[in-house]
Amino acid sequence: MDDLLERIRLFLRQEQDLFGERILSEHRPVVEKPMRPSKPAGPEEPALFELPSPPRAPLTTEAWGSAEGLDDLNRQICTCMKCPLGGTRTKFVFGVGNPHATLMLIGEAPGADEDAQGEPFVGRAGQLLNKILEAIHFKREEVYICNILKCRPPGNRKPAPDEVAQCLPYLRKQIELIRPKVILCLGLTAAENLMHTTESLSALRGRVLQYDGIPLMITYHPAALLRNPNWKRPTWEDVQAVRKLHDELVNADSAKA
Ligand code: URA
Repeated sequence: MDDLLERIRLFLRQEQDLFGERILSEHRPVVEKPMRPSKPAGPEEPALFELPSPPRAPLTTEAWGSAEGLDDLNRQICTCMKCPLGGTRTKFVFGVGNPHATLMLIGEAPGADEDAQGEPFVGRAGQLLNKILEAIHFKREEVYICNILKCRPPGNRKPAPDEVAQCLPYLRKQIELIRPKVILCLGLTAAENLMHTTESLSALRGRVLQYDGIPLMITYHPAALLRNPNWKRPTWEDVQAVRKLHDELVNADSAKA
């Protein structure tokens, strides 16, 4: 009984954190948002995916391209000075989490807290992200979290194209090493740079795209939710869809094994 009460309390606290007070009186069951219908599958395009992956240039001829694990990669790139952010950072923010994660979350760039601690999503947005993960029954340590940029842009401005051009290959290598079942982009900057898309976030959410054969979904950035709580409800729908897709793919794989 105590355990049940504790679980109810935890659930209500999560709902309150995610949606504020209003939801406690207005709660309605979450209706699963259906994926938008895919185009009919072509010969090499599984019906699951809406868009083919953008073409990829070879990653690099530099030594880090042959890194065999995340620690090795981090060691080789953490002193990077390829763009001016190398000169202004406090800490290089490589990424954190399970090297065998089945879910990978990609944000924009480190902020002040992340720059100080060397870990992504540890500030206010990070705390909200932890709650969102908890609400879909993921522990932070279970997933992998990183950003488009590894170093903080001054004043938290948007990443500049030349910074992204230098940094994105590192992220691509991380994805190659982890090979998650699902990628979730947090915010439009992550999606734009990873998917080379110019579509709006509202046009991209609720769809399953693919990055290099890996299903990829997009939702609002937690920092945006802190500014505009109206986006919490759609985010909740998005992350539930991510959980469902993730579980389907993981279960399909274990059935094959
Ligand atoms: N915002 C991001 O996009 N990434 C972080 O690591 C923190 C805040």
